[in-house]
Amino acid sequence: MRFQDIPGMDDVKLKLTSSVNNNTLAHAQLLAGKPGAWNLPLALAFSAYIHCENRNDHDACGQCGSCSQHEKFIHPDVSYVFPLTSQKGVKSDDVISRNYLKNFRSFLSENPYRDIEDWAAYIEGENKSFNISKEESRQIIQNLSLKSFTGGFKIVIIWLPEYMHINAANGILKVLEEPAEKTLFLLVSQNSDRLLTTILSRTRQIQIRNPKDIEIKDWLKSKMDLSDEKAAQLSLSSDGNISSLLKILEQKDDMVMDFFRKWLLACYRLDQRKMIEYADSFGKMNKVIHRSFFSYGQNVMRDCLLIISKAHSTELISDSYKEFVIKLAALLNISKIELFSQQLGETAYYLERNANSKLAFLNMSVKMAHLFRK
Ligand SMILES: [Zn+2]
Repeated sequence: MRFQDIPGMDDVKLKLTSSVNNNTLAHAQLLAGKPGAWNLPLALAFSAYIHCENRNDHDACGQCGSCSQHEKFIHPDVSYVFPLTSQKGVKSDDVISRNYLKNFRSFLSENPYRDIEDWAAYIEGENKSFNISKEESRQIIQNLSLKSFTGGFKIVIIWLPEYMHINAANGILKVLEEPAEKTLFLLVSQNSDRLLTTILSRTRQIQIRNPKDIEIKDWLKSKMDLSDEKAAQLSLSSDGNISSLLKILEQKDDMVMDFFRKWLLACYRLDQRKMIEYADSFGKMNKVIHRSFFSYGQNVMRDCLLIISKAHSTELISDSYKEFVIKLAALLNISKIELFSQQLGETAYYLERNANSKLAFLNMSVKMAHLFRK
């Protein structure tokens, strides 16, 4: 993660980079934001910047050995501390970040713009109560007593310090106040009101606002291969929180995707009973879902066309999607794809003009079934 991967936030980036370049780096910093703020990506980019062997005034180089370790979250002088919950068959003293680092690394690699709920779903603990335990503070102190591997800064990133058990918080007060030389604590909080005043008073606080719509739009475009229009539309409904936006997208898209695939299979098999069932279900869905269905269908057709004409240059969203599109493309040719796409377009047009959705859908299903047999 580099600063350039995070859209906008120029004021914070400047504050962070200039503290390194002017030698005014505070040894304990609190990046305070609300859920959805990009303080974790900023902390990750800042750590990479500090360790980079070839940084410029604004960003890490992305090329050096240290940058490539940061890219995989394996730099030996960075330790990550994060909330955990009890795990079946694991002694409580062993439920410490060090032992779940692999999970945390893959969580970060997939997408570091997420929150505690995402982490909870990812790590699948025994219950919902997460914390950073007292044992964790012992680990931090022990870790800081070791020499730096590279001779540079040792960085401790504490993600969501508001989950620190009071004994854990008290356990690190001394090192926060009098850290060893070249030690940096980055506390990344989504609810700093819950932090003890003794912690707050020992850190330099940087407030991180939630991203603006335009910043979310840029992020969506860069990560999800979306059109300008679609990205703009989604960013407006994001409420400054990519994490919750992704959750909505996943749920809605999964449902639509699943429905589209099963329906098309029924048309392919000319399974009349299923075709009627799907028309019934479609009739009960709302307009927003209808629109996603047609836009998903058109995307599928576009991707089939690109596969057939061997012009596919964009990354397909997921492996399962890729598999589906390749299988479907094998059943089609260019003129069939055009007819499919035309059918989808016409039905969408009628529905926007309030045609009976169940009948229009059934009508489309019958035409699709015939098109497969043409
Ligand atoms: Zn570098």
